[in-house]
Amino acid sequence: MSYDPNNIFARIIRGELPCHKIYETDAILAFMDIMPRANGHCLVLPKAPSRNIFDVQPEDLAEVSKAVQIIAKAARKAFDADGITVQQFNEEAGGQVVFHLHVHVIPRFRGEPLKPHTGEMADPELLARNAEAIRRALDAA
Ligand code: AMP
Repeated sequence: MSYDPNNIFARIIRGELPCHKIYETDAILAFMDIMPRANGHCLVLPKAPSRNIFDVQPEDLAEVSKAVQIIAKAARKAFDADGITVQQFNEEAGGQVVFHLHVHVIPRFRGEPLKPHTGEMADPELLARNAEAIRRALDAA
């Protein structure tokens, strides 16, 4: 399976499509998931093209892992979450829908199951507020 340079996340990385950005380095980008499975659901991805776990360069995966920890701590603080779920899917059979490697960071609250994938977009104002809350938690870290 090859990498499609016009997948939606590649276009976000190139700035061709918008996102609610949380955090960025030379190697990674983190932004809000627009169809969150829980309040504060965000995504961390390498900027370098990689389809998934099978072709990502180990250095890029390491940068993603570092950022996942940073974002998980900030999201827990921002939403006073009881826990965080980290998920990453590979190929269609593995649950992957967008074919640029990404890791889900999902705040969790006691007694609240993950919402199903409805395909419905969250209110952009809520996403903007949530991104701001995580950015503030990062600044305070
Ligand atoms: P998966 O490939 O199964 O890990 O899922 C892709 C994820 O990307 C889903 O959680 C979608 O809600 C999310 N998503 C799809 N398009 C966008 C977008 N334009 N901005 C932010 N998140 C997106």
